[in-house]
Amino acid sequence: EAAKPGILVHGPKKPLVERGLAERFDVHVIHSPEELEKLPPAVVDNIRGIAVTGLVKTDAAMLARFPKLEIVASFGVGYDHVDFRYAAAHNIVVTHTPDVLTEEVADTTIGLLIATLREFITADRYVREGKWPQKDYRLSPGSLRDRTVGIVGMGRIGRAIARRVEACGVPIVYHSRNPAPGISYRHYPNLIEMAKDVDTMIAITPGGASTLKMINAEVLKALGPRGVFINVARGSVVDEEALIAALKDGTILAAGLDVFAHEPNVPKEFWTMDNVVLLPHIASASIATRDAMDQLVVDNLLNWFSGQPALTPVAETPFGKRE
Ligand code: NDP
Repeated sequence: EAAKPGILVHGPKKPLVERGLAERFDVHVIHSPEELEKLPPAVVDNIRGIAVTGLVKTDAAMLARFPKLEIVASFGVGYDHVDFRYAAAHNIVVTHTPDVLTEEVADTTIGLLIATLREFITADRYVREGKWPQKDYRLSPGSLRDRTVGIVGMGRIGRAIARRVEACGVPIVYHSRNPAPGISYRHYPNLIEMAKDVDTMIAITPGGASTLKMINAEVLKALGPRGVFINVARGSVVDEEALIAALKDGTILAAGLDVFAHEPNVPKEFWTMDNVVLLPHIASASIATRDAMDQLVVDNLLNWFSGQPALTPVAETPFGKRE
């Protein structure tokens, strides 16, 4: 019997992934780059697939270690943590987990938007601190009524967010590089122009070089003093220092943030601000949705090594199975 293909499982512990791969593969689990150094050469030489179980940096130097590498199955729909350019140039397929998290992330986004506008988190704290019997909680300066929402990124998740915002009876426009097929909301090729016309902005683009700090001081200024910024994309899409300044000096009203530039570290300045809602990157983080994402990581590898195409390759690596 031929040796089982070696699979490296790298990242946060994922029992579903380990169990799903155990039967068909020779599985090696590591949780840190240091453990990578300790893998015996015979193991390294037999690794044909990598399961990346979190947003763990998987760069060219890491991929180059494995001479027989065919596929990197990454957890999450965003894959800016994987060097997909290196993979594409070396015929290595990268897969991700689109669709299975779309509705969950859109739900979270709406929750974060309303919690930010209507101050749910500070109001909850108000009740717990026993302040209600003395005085009613203040009226929130923010409201979803009479707003216009500009969505930055109108892909799978952007559309799911738009459907929900539409149900709230609020007009929607969007920015992306190209108009999204089949979408009738007004498209702004220019982000600043959109920021001038809206008071509420939701970022849901990929991270990486093309979106780096695209939400900058100029965009926040254009959003204006009623402005609310919601980020469920990546921390890298916003200039965090500019955002902190804009929230402090009233350039914008408030922000709801699920993602940060240097996770899990969140700038201390945010901790004491009442006009921000801070989430620890949980947009997709329910048990049910995370299980579906884990299973899709497993299924991509199972399919690939049974001679089928990967189920959900990223756009940059549309390769089939090599003979
Ligand atoms: P899609 O690929 O379906 O959509 C991406 C959208 O972003 C497209 O409309 C695309 O349009 C637009 N876009 C890409 N690059 C740029 C750019 N440089 N400038 C402006 N717009 C751009 O992805 P999904 O909707 O499935 O996911 C989007 C992202 O959401 C993920 O990549 C991830 O970063 C983030 N995410 C965050 C989660 C969280 O836990 N907070 C959970 C899930 C996803 P065009 O190409 O025309 O520019």
